[in-house]
Amino acid sequence: MSARKDTGLGFSTRMSHHGRAGAKEHGFVNPPIHRGSTVLFPDCESRKNSAKQRYEQVLTYGTAGGPTHHMLEDMVAEIEGGTRALIVGTGLAACMVPLFAYLKAGDHCLVPDSVYGPVRNLADGLMKSFGIETTYYDPMVDEAGMAALIRPNTKVVYTESPGSHTFELQDIPAIASAARAAGAKVLMDNTWGFHTFQPFAHGVDVSIQALTKYAGGHSDVLLGSVTVNNPEDWQIVKGASSQLGQFASPDDCWLCLRGLRTLPVRLRQQAENGLQVARWLETQPEVLRLLHPALPSHPQHALFQRDFSGTCSLFGLVLQPRYSDADAETVVDALRLFGIGASWGGYESLALPTAPSISRTVTNPKDFGGPIIRLHIGLEDPEDLIADLTQALGRLPR
Ligand SMILES: *Cc1c(COP(=O)(O)O)cnc(C)c1O
Repeated sequence: MSARKDTGLGFSTRMSHHGRAGAKEHGFVNPPIHRGSTVLFPDCESRKNSAKQRYEQVLTYGTAGGPTHHMLEDMVAEIEGGTRALIVGTGLAACMVPLFAYLKAGDHCLVPDSVYGPVRNLADGLMKSFGIETTYYDPMVDEAGMAALIRPNTKVVYTESPGSHTFELQDIPAIASAARAAGAKVLMDNTWGFHTFQPFAHGVDVSIQALTKYAGGHSDVLLGSVTVNNPEDWQIVKGASSQLGQFASPDDCWLCLRGLRTLPVRLRQQAENGLQVARWLETQPEVLRLLHPALPSHPQHALFQRDFSGTCSLFGLVLQPRYSDADAETVVDALRLFGIGASWGGYESLALPTAPSISRTVTNPKDFGGPIIRLHIGLEDPEDLIADLTQALGRLPR
């Protein structure tokens, strides 16, 4: 949780102190929200010069971002260990921008079978119609397996670890090593790992975040970010984002900055609550197993220990094989303290039967042994959540 960087300051300290550059003006703790489209210049020469400084944060026009965006960019780049972050309107936009930035007609893209569903829709939809071919791969592929999948026209290896809904971990350094040897860019959706997985230290070129999740933290904001680690990648990603007309509201950036101040303490508590609930679930007779990378029972726990410095509170629960997907719905419907809905990372607990959201073409969700329920554990007292799960599991046929 408190990985230290060159500054020597811990994670919580940095989340308190960074990204407040605009705050000093009037003595308030927090910076104001800067809204704006037109940026005025004293003369034509200074306007021309502003357009040339592309890697630095300069004000040119509202769509290129203002001071509120810049403060959030700094915070996200800091958390991810990259040099520069781009803020876009949603997590899905953050997935889309680098895909279109690095791929063109005739190129090939490798996407893990456990990818966030809407990215699969994009790959099978617009990307395909624009002449970009996608091959789905087993997320647990090793270096040699990845090398064998790469073709001469493979320009992007997309990764997401752990995978959406099924929580397979990916060996990112091994995959990145194969991709880099072939000159392909490694993109990673690092939403689950946010501050606990350092993408650039593991060979990733571009890191994607749905800031909608723990960063916003209160289920009231949609935002995404794309973080890079050098000026060349910045030019490519920023160029695509501009062409695609991407923008995020400064009000939402401000809300996200506010969320980040309490991120360390929220995540620490939610991770702990989540583990408490997961460990209890593991002992219940209705449960076959948990899909939680931080539990020693996860088949890739060693990889988790090698690469992650901590966990979050989103995981899966597999019911015994004698139960059906309809039984999983019975359990979810019976829960009183868990909301039924998409997204995660807020302060409130959520539950979803996974079957309707799952789409796989090279691996088999039946391999998990039974119906899966995805749980997001919030800041409620874990004893209350356990009591709620007890009564809900009690509704299952004996
Ligand atoms: C939620 C999510 C996204 C998309 O975020 P939105 O802001 O809802 O568009 C992308 N990737 C992962 C892993 C997610 O969980």
